[in-house]
Amino acid sequence: MAYKTDIEIAREANKKPIQEIGAKLGIGSDDLLPYGHDKAKVSQKFIDSVQGNESGKLILVTAINPTPAGEGKTTTTVGLGDGLNRIGKKAAVCIREASLGPNFGMKGGAAGGGYAQIVPMEDMNLHFTGDFHAITSAHSLLSAMIDNHIYWGNEQEIDIRRVQWKRVVDMNDRALRQITASLGGVANGFPREAGFDITVASEVMAILCLANNLKDLQQRLGDMIVAYRRDRTPVFCRDIKADGAMTVLLKDAMQPNLVQTLENNPAFVHGGPFANIAHGCNSVIATNTALKIADFVVTEAGFGADLGAEKFMNIKCRKAGLAPDCVVLVATVRAMKMNGGVAKADLGAENVDAVKEGCANLGRHIGNLKSFGVPVVVAINHFVTDTDAEVQAVKDYVATQGSEAILSRHWELGSEGSEALAKRVAEIAESGAAQFAPIYPDDMSLMEKINTIAKTIYRADEVLADQKIRDQLKLWEEQGYGHLPICMAKTQYSFSTDPNLRGAPVGHSVPVREVRLSAGAGFVVVVCGEIMTMPGLPRVPSAENIHLNDEGQIEGLF
Ligand code: ADP
Ligand code: MG
Repeated sequence: MAYKTDIEIAREANKKPIQEIGAKLGIGSDDLLPYGHDKAKVSQKFIDSVQGNESGKLILVTAINPTPAGEGKTTTTVGLGDGLNRIGKKAAVCIREASLGPNFGMKGGAAGGGYAQIVPMEDMNLHFTGDFHAITSAHSLLSAMIDNHIYWGNEQEIDIRRVQWKRVVDMNDRALRQITASLGGVANGFPREAGFDITVASEVMAILCLANNLKDLQQRLGDMIVAYRRDRTPVFCRDIKADGAMTVLLKDAMQPNLVQTLENNPAFVHGGPFANIAHGCNSVIATNTALKIADFVVTEAGFGADLGAEKFMNIKCRKAGLAPDCVVLVATVRAMKMNGGVAKADLGAENVDAVKEGCANLGRHIGNLKSFGVPVVVAINHFVTDTDAEVQAVKDYVATQGSEAILSRHWELGSEGSEALAKRVAEIAESGAAQFAPIYPDDMSLMEKINTIAKTIYRADEVLADQKIRDQLKLWEEQGYGHLPICMAKTQYSFSTDPNLRGAPVGHSVPVREVRLSAGAGFVVVVCGEIMTMPGLPRVPSAENIHLNDEGQIEGLF
């Protein structure tokens, strides 16, 4: 049987006007700021007006360590949201916006897949409501103002060799990773080395996603460290006087975007911080607003649970006062097989032994998630090639780990396929069994926080960090940053820092290469291994296949 592509399914969607979607959550048309007919931003006035409401149940969707076989977190997030609505619950989905870079690079959109998608998927994967462009502009304004400050006399005595603030563009463009700026003579300023990151790696993006309101946004923007002086004291964004104008540029981008699923259920799509240099979750303002007006909110964290869920819990939930009521851990039979040593080309053939072998990775994640005090359900995201015996092997294994696995066929069938998962998740979330707590306290030292994550989540024996790094952490503690949470940046493919070490490795060590302070976002980034803040395009970028057909429709966007 031939299956339709994501974009073919999305094109056939029977979309409702966005006002009807808003009405499902009690958002009146006056409070929806429409961007066309099927997208709208939610007014600040409305957001303020619901703050006193009781919060709904929060469900986090996360996954095992990703494999090239694909896991389907977003697809499952959307499918579960539709499933909850199907069983009569008022549920909303909260996910991230898409970055243009990866869209034109590797195949794979951000709107879900199959019959569990958010529409309009073309818009969502392209310019959407312009939020990322606004972030690029706000970031670029600060970049320009820093060089302008230096040009006009450098009152702040910025050491031009120590400008931390880079430039950004929302594209995978490796040619811009390192550049020399201000060439061409006296009129163009003082030549210095600079570079570009992709927009989603900007601290402005992380801040937009963690800020509670516009005031908080401006405060955090002001707190960003943009450069150092020769005496190593920091120069803040506030010293360059850019925070006010940046906030003006971000005013609309701060408002959450409302769209719909294929089944006309509400979905908030807002923000999209990189999951390595930042925390990789949608915005706090969207999640909080959704919780105030829906009974169930289903949201997703990037990468595997060792990175995405850990940061969701220890950074986002801690900072925003959120607490998940249930975690859905997405696994696929294919990924279990890959973890069990099967090559991608051989995934089509039944291999129960490999499934069993690969389950260790899943088991480790279940244990880790439970350590946050939240009940865990495994969702087996069903691929049509999975056999009953393979699915049963996963279920049997999960039962031995004190959890349960539910087969979900939302990709193929929409909410009809996720009903069972939705019922069980609703039951668990409503039971009040969750006793959420982050795994380290604010007042633990920065080094101890790193140790805690490495030992309890990665099950490493030790953290390896040079004296230089330890001294840097100490200095930040003395400067008043010791209470910040840690944002780990390591490979998503393994519990360890070695991407090839699949399964559930033990006895490894976690070498810390570098630490970075994101003083505005409010975390310390701990870099273990290579960190990529400007991706490149692959040999054959998907852009080569993206075009308009004779009807003016977009082809090739997944
Ligand atoms: P993640 O959020 O984990 O990165 P997505 O949900 O975005 O993953 O899915 C990645 C791709 O895999 C999408 O193109 C989607 O259509 C596809 N996919 C997801 N689940 C299934 C499934 N059950 N069967 C077939 N393809 C799937
Ligand atoms: Mg996703």
